[in-house]
Amino acid sequence: MALERTFSIIKPDATKRDLTGKIVAKFEEAGLRVVASKRIHLTKAQAGEFYAVHKERPFYDELCEFMASAPIVAQVLEGENAIAKNREVMGATNPADAAPGTIRAEFAESVGENSVHGSDAPETAAVEIAYFFSGLELVG
Ligand code: GDP
Repeated sequence: MALERTFSIIKPDATKRDLTGKIVAKFEEAGLRVVASKRIHLTKAQAGEFYAVHKERPFYDELCEFMASAPIVAQVLEGENAIAKNREVMGATNPADAAPGTIRAEFAESVGENSVHGSDAPETAAVEIAYFFSGLELVG
């Protein structure tokens, strides 16, 4: 299995409740190394660009408002099979469906305010990493 990188966001509902450390611990316990990290406060326009793929969805405006409502922690995670591994550690989008022990089962508040984002494919991971980080900021 090849070493892979994925993009992660610890979302506003989680940063507001000081869950950053607990969430990063879940990544690290799963063998995902944090190779880049920054805490930033997105504007609604920046959140909208990041989630442009969801523009036509009924919850798009609510999602952008939420993502700009408090700081986020943007990270690049590296490990074997990192994209799938991270999605496994995150759990299902709706916390009601998330497997026990996953981040969303333990911490998410609702289907919208669900504590974490993780890339769903290598192509999206590459685009999302480049949206938030320069090559100089990926430090291994
Ligand atoms: P993910 O890949 O598991 O994050 O799920 P999606 O790509 O389907 O959705 C992206 C994000 O949009 C989710 O993580 C939620 O924050 C938000 N979202 C998805 N479905 C809903 C919904 O029905 N209502 C609201 N308010 N937000 C949603």
